[in-house]
Amino acid sequence: MKVQGVFASAIMIIGINVPIISQNVSVEVAKWYGFKDAAICYTFDDGCSNQFLKARPMFDSAGFPMTLFTVTNWASNWSVLKAMAENGHEIASHSVSHPNFGQINIENQDIELSKSKAIIEQKIGRPCLTHAYPYCVKSNDSLVKVNYLSARGCQGYIEKATPADYYNISSIIVGNLGAVKTYSDFKNYFKQAAVQKGWLVFLIHGIDNDGGYSPIPSSELQKSLLYLEPRTAKYWVTTFKAATLYSKERDAAQVTLISASDDQIELSIVDTLPDSLYNQSLTLRCILPQNWPSVVVKQNEQTVFSRIVKRDTSIFIEFDAVPDGGLVVLKKDNTPVVPEVDSIPPDEQDNLPSSIENSDIESLKVIAKKNKLTISWPANANARFWQVTIADSLGRIIISKNVYSSNAFTVDLPHRKKGVMYFIQVKSSAKVYQTKLVL
Ligand SMILES: [Zn+2]
Repeated sequence: MKVQGVFASAIMIIGINVPIISQNVSVEVAKWYGFKDAAICYTFDDGCSNQFLKARPMFDSAGFPMTLFTVTNWASNWSVLKAMAENGHEIASHSVSHPNFGQINIENQDIELSKSKAIIEQKIGRPCLTHAYPYCVKSNDSLVKVNYLSARGCQGYIEKATPADYYNISSIIVGNLGAVKTYSDFKNYFKQAAVQKGWLVFLIHGIDNDGGYSPIPSSELQKSLLYLEPRTAKYWVTTFKAATLYSKERDAAQVTLISASDDQIELSIVDTLPDSLYNQSLTLRCILPQNWPSVVVKQNEQTVFSRIVKRDTSIFIEFDAVPDGGLVVLKKDNTPVVPEVDSIPPDEQDNLPSSIENSDIESLKVIAKKNKLTISWPANANARFWQVTIADSLGRIIISKNVYSSNAFTVDLPHRKKGVMYFIQVKSSAKVYQTKLVL
């Protein structure tokens, strides 16, 4: 059992009154959510028009969130920003008037930081917790700390999983004046971030010809998302806020084994961070005990997301838990479950869905009638929405659609040919179903 580096704080204590057949339990907190290799944040500054017209539909279709660092004096359409926030995107601060903090006094820095936060919170109706410095020039440290949990700079390197300074998180400038100009540049950064288990933050302004600083062609941005879509088991594409919360909570979390019997494990997970803000789920794991067919995980008596997953030769229970969110109980369940296997396409395989590892092939129902395909799958309370992808045998995506509040999807298959194989994937943050179909 690996308890790596900084996570060696996961404490293993066997209680005194533990039954004789006790489990030898070792718990590990994931470096990034879901035991993914790297966190990736796409951050957008200044509200350039194509961020809304072109990037937004791409990110919505991929199921990935954007972080929009907003200059409150420049924002023209708050109803769009509010709708985006409600759909999982982060609306964060990029000051009131985009000054150079190196050239204005403390009083004005305070106004730029606190007023932009207040305006965003009032317009959006959610906490505004992160900031990006205009021109990447840092403000007074104590002022930014009063208002925000983290702030973005642009030093041009991949940030560490634990940054040296949460108030100057590095980012990589995208576009013709930056380090990332093409799809292949995006890919190189993804790979490096995975190797480093790092936090990769992109800084994007203009897209195509919208007049924004350092524009990136929308086609290159789109390709980067298509690359990531089938690789979400490896890359955590998330908001700047969520990555900040995860990083801080992970490092502050103290996990204690309360008890372990032959059918139940109890854990506590606590930290000293304020719970009103730090409520991001961490991912934990331990080896599935040998005689457990399956497991149900609850925190504070509520079922939390968990899965049984095979990594190399080990079978783990991986589950979500929020520090200070109550007692975590893993209870043996007698329904046998086939362990999931995360499949990640090789790097050189472009724009392809995952290769087929049928973790739940029997659960994904596909009915084909003439040109109509009806796909259905089990309901899951943890799924915000489902992404349905149909690809052909060459990996070309034919259909990619998000399905909200339904567990079925019907589609007319264009250009249907006899004997052609299709790969069908239905996924949410909670579950992935895949199957192949020969018509
Ligand atoms: Zn800016």
